[in-house]
Amino acid sequence: MEKNRRSRKVQIQALLKSAAVAALLMNSGILHGQTAGPLVPKDIILICWDGLDRSVLRELLDKQKLPNLKSLIDEGSLQDIEVAGHVTVTKPSHAEMLTGLDTATTGVYSNAVYRPIPEGCTIFERLQSHFGGPQAIRTIFLAGKTAHVGGRSPEEIKQAMERQQKQRQKLAAVARRGQRANPPSPRIAAGADDTLFSREGEPFYLTRKHLDVFDAIQREASAAGLLCLKYLDQYKADRFFAFLHFSDPDHAGHRSGIDSQEYRQAAIEDDGWLGKIKEWLQRENLSDKTLLYVTTDHGFDEHGSSHADAPHAWLATNDKKVTRGGIIADIPATILERYGVDVKSLEPKLIGIPLEGEAPQRSLARPPIPVAKLLASLPSAEELFALLDLNRDGKITPDEFPRPRLFQRLDLNRDKTITREEAEKVLSKRAKKSPAYPLFLLPNEVARLNAPVRPEESGHFDSPASPFGHV
Ligand SMILES: [Zn+2]
Ligand SMILES: [Zn+2]
Repeated sequence: MEKNRRSRKVQIQALLKSAAVAALLMNSGILHGQTAGPLVPKDIILICWDGLDRSVLRELLDKQKLPNLKSLIDEGSLQDIEVAGHVTVTKPSHAEMLTGLDTATTGVYSNAVYRPIPEGCTIFERLQSHFGGPQAIRTIFLAGKTAHVGGRSPEEIKQAMERQQKQRQKLAAVARRGQRANPPSPRIAAGADDTLFSREGEPFYLTRKHLDVFDAIQREASAAGLLCLKYLDQYKADRFFAFLHFSDPDHAGHRSGIDSQEYRQAAIEDDGWLGKIKEWLQRENLSDKTLLYVTTDHGFDEHGSSHADAPHAWLATNDKKVTRGGIIADIPATILERYGVDVKSLEPKLIGIPLEGEAPQRSLARPPIPVAKLLASLPSAEELFALLDLNRDGKITPDEFPRPRLFQRLDLNRDKTITREEAEKVLSKRAKKSPAYPLFLLPNEVARLNAPVRPEESGHFDSPASPFGHV
């Protein structure tokens, strides 16, 4: 009896000991790729197919057009992800995707109203501090857009915009010589607010210096895919976390609409690159040690060519522990937890919750951006008039500034025009923040607002190839 009890005690001690050793090994990353999938994966790759709507994704899966995504889903699952808490556009969605935080904490409210994400808040930096420094985990950030997933400083943005300005002046001169028969009516071009608002630096400006690779530049899938393989190969010997961004579905959607073949073709091409990444993992014997998450930042409007109200995203993964859908912030929370980070203890607090167990009760609302934030991002009254008073009559009308909430704030006497005095009165009262370059728009920019906008030229699509991506 006594002997039995003692031997049981010994057994339990042995068990505890081996559990402790296993936990140690898990944390050091030695134990992985065994039996029922990795305990702590060596590597995680997060891929974003920008702007691929859930409905089209499901259609293409049904038609067996995405064989590589299908095989990933067969290993794990496909989940519904909703864009909540902010407008359904690229900048705030990526800030959320790579931090798990809300807009108030990241400061990234929309494509136009944003600031750099505070240092230490991204998955990359959290993992570095979890594993004990940048040598302990390699971090790769590869994006196919320059601005909305970018990390440029105010100075770099200014230089790029000045270059664009010059290009546009040249184009405008050419167009003038060509005598346009039907000059278009004045309007704010889609994405023009990219140039309207002040800058402290792009969302990942404070992040980029901490990473092994930060490469964000406008590029097509064919270029992005090759670079994915190059960077992965460079860091394969070490533990790594890679974020790989493909911009093509978004661009095709804006050019040709959600119903187009071009939009579908972009997804099919991204799937091809997923296949190449999976083949590479196989070749390098990393398949069992690597979790893959493929997702998007927003959908597209029904039958549309924009994504003003497009919250239907998705997540495909080989992570068997993912058993439910959620919001974008749940994806970084899941990734951090898989690497062994105690997600609940993080500060600032994540809004994301790992994608397993009971789905939490929470609001999927997308509240408007606080007017104070919008106002703070406007330039001075003088610059505002240079930009918006298209007919130079000293007044800004709703036609010239089709942003009702801001218009109302500036139109103090509610007579449907903003005078210079009104603008000065409102804008001079703002809290004085002094970003290095509060406004990059030159008066000639007005010419651009009058010009017809090809989607690829609109600010929405970021600037053309720029050397600033390679920092
Ligand atoms: Zn996007
Ligand atoms: Zn877009």
